[in-house]
Amino acid sequence: MIIDRADVVVTSPDRNFVTLRLTTDDGLTGLGDATLNGRELAVVAYLQDHVVPLLIGRDASRIEDTWQFLYRGAYWRRGPVTMAAIAAVDTALWDIKGKAAGMPVYQLLGGASRDGLLAYGHASGKDLEELFDSVRAHQEQGYRAIRIQTGVPGLNSIYGIASNATSAANTGVRYDHEPAQRGALPNQEDWDTRAYLRHVPGVFEAVRNEFGPELPLLHDAHHRLTPVQAAQLGKSLEPYDLFWLEDVTPAENQEALRLVRHHTTTPLAIGEVFNTVWDYQQIIREQLIDYVRSAVTHTGGISHLKKVLDYAAQYQIKSGMHGPTDISPVGMAAAMHLGLAIHNFGIQEYMRHGAATDAVFRQSFTWRDGHLHPGDEPGLGVELDLDEAGRHPYVRAYLPYNRLADGTVHDW
Ligand SMILES: [Mg+2]
Repeated sequence: MIIDRADVVVTSPDRNFVTLRLTTDDGLTGLGDATLNGRELAVVAYLQDHVVPLLIGRDASRIEDTWQFLYRGAYWRRGPVTMAAIAAVDTALWDIKGKAAGMPVYQLLGGASRDGLLAYGHASGKDLEELFDSVRAHQEQGYRAIRIQTGVPGLNSIYGIASNATSAANTGVRYDHEPAQRGALPNQEDWDTRAYLRHVPGVFEAVRNEFGPELPLLHDAHHRLTPVQAAQLGKSLEPYDLFWLEDVTPAENQEALRLVRHHTTTPLAIGEVFNTVWDYQQIIREQLIDYVRSAVTHTGGISHLKKVLDYAAQYQIKSGMHGPTDISPVGMAAAMHLGLAIHNFGIQEYMRHGAATDAVFRQSFTWRDGHLHPGDEPGLGVELDLDEAGRHPYVRAYLPYNRLADGTVHDW
């Protein structure tokens, strides 16, 4: 099992995806997702120029050794570009090992700890009527846990609201249900924290009144609050029994979560922009969060995220892997295999990919009664159609950014 070919495939069916495809001398192929939303080509260059030459001739069975070689051997550690590139190699090697063994990857990780993975979808609306329609549509699609995002009166265009491209500043073409937009420049969105903090508790009260106490509800504050503001929001949402409140403060400062934690019992989730166990060291040890938001794709692959989650398990902290459409079907499959195997699975984010994406990536997962299962094909269970991928060349796209009313750039 010697790696004798490594191809970096860039395709843009519904959005941009970067996929590493490794081929061994005995004809096995493995896929890894290396998509870094809005900075995709940086990972392409990292892989093509610096990693692919190191992989040719290596033993594909040595997953941990290859991970350590790429991480420690680079000298320059961590960071989203490096860790997405390493993740792609690691995930592709697990795919190959599964195919070589004739087993799905979750079997190699210890076997299934559950029958399926509870997943949540994204309901949104510019007002309550639109939001309720969106919640009902998600329930009809089988979702049993739902994230709630709404417009805020006075703000034109904000995070998490599908099809809201009405702002004069919006010039790009918005992807289906996620915020990155195709275009030469990033779109500008608006932000006003006080207006948001006033509005959100009433939204959750209305949702609970309409849909009852059972439905698990989630919410994403998307890194925009100070610790005191985050504590206020957590307290004000306590009556509505959230499954989690996500990314309340900018994630770089782990200590910020202490103040939030001291003031609210609303469960906290964080980490979709984290890349290594070191980004979680303090917040896991001090039990400042309840859910780890990292994706396999951005956190060094299956091998490294499993280490993060095993560490979290000692503190009763569970997984809540990032899974919007910027995680490719390969990255989603890797998340499903890992989530099925670990004991401390919490919930999986799941937004459906479009038909064009599903034509590029042939998948074998199932979606039943609000639960995902990766299927029992050997490896990850995803095949990349290179001809179909070739029909969708890369299109420049950026995530939006925020400005306050006075023009100040704010966290997006
Ligand atoms: Mg988030």
